Amino acid sequence: VLNAAKDFDFFYFVQQWPGSYCDTKQSCCYPTTGKPAADFGIHGLWPNNNDGTYPSNCDPNSPYDQSQISDLISRMQQNWPTLACPSGSGSTFWSHEWEKHGTCAESVFTNQHGYFKKALDLKNQIDLLAILEGAEVHPDGGSYDLDNIRNAVKSAIGYTPWIQCNVDESGNSQLYQVYLCVDASGSNLIECPVFPRGKCGSSIEFPTF
Ligand code: 5GP
Ligand code: 5GP
Ligand code: 5GP
Repeated sequence: VLNAAKDFDFFYFVQQWPGSYCDTKQSCCYPTTGKPAADFGIHGLWPNNNDGTYPSNCDPNSPYDQSQISDLISRMQQNWPTLACPSGSGSTFWSHEWEKHGTCAESVFTNQHGYFKKALDLKNQIDLLAILEGAEVHPDGGSYDLDNIRNAVKSAIGYTPWIQCNVDESGNSQLYQVYLCVDASGSNLIECPVFPRGKCGSSIEFPTF
């Protein structure tokens, strides 16, 4: 086969704020490698279609193989920590992301090393926390205008993010995940062709971690 047909239109690059994963009713567990930095972490790099649908679990013959990314593991632990319970090293999370999403874009990145490296490089390129702090939006438990958050990211990187909220134990709407979009070749940020569903308040909490 020369080129497997791409059956998707673009990628979501999704980062999560650990404080907002952990202060929920469901709570969280730190990785076995210790409490992650107070920084956004990668959730995933997800192939998606312009109509909002997305492919998943595309290649059962390409299981996650950590030996292919051994040179990336310390960057993964730093930038892609797992917060689900029970505590784990991260390999369950990374394996889930590769098998559910990565296998649908295998041809773009050649292999899983290319996929994980791309996500790490995007994280390195887009320092969300620095961008927000530069706009005086701090993870201090305070409330911030959703528009200020969006505009801060838009001014810093040129593209409008999608902010996804969840609720803390008291029911307050808070900044949970930030979606940005990458073209189907996996090379460049683009404006998102479609946004996921979900609502935030016009003012949302940015919890500490
Ligand atoms: P949740 O229901 O927590 O928002 O999402 C659960 C999982 O479904 C996510 O971890 C992700 O794997 C997948 N997912 C949810 N929304 C989208 C989407 O808009 N695009 C893609 N590609 N995956 C999604
Ligand atoms: P998705 O299917 O939405 O891409 O990924 C969510 C899956 O990864 C869930 O099964 C969830 O339990 C697992 N997971 C492990 N660690 C994390 C984490 O730190 N954040 C999120 N959102 N999901 C995690
Ligand atoms: P999954 O099926 O993917 O395990 O998880 C389903 C949903 O629950 C996802 O939206 C994921 O983000 C969330 N989730 C899974 N495990 C945990 C956890 O340990 N703590 C929290 N706060 N959310 C979790």
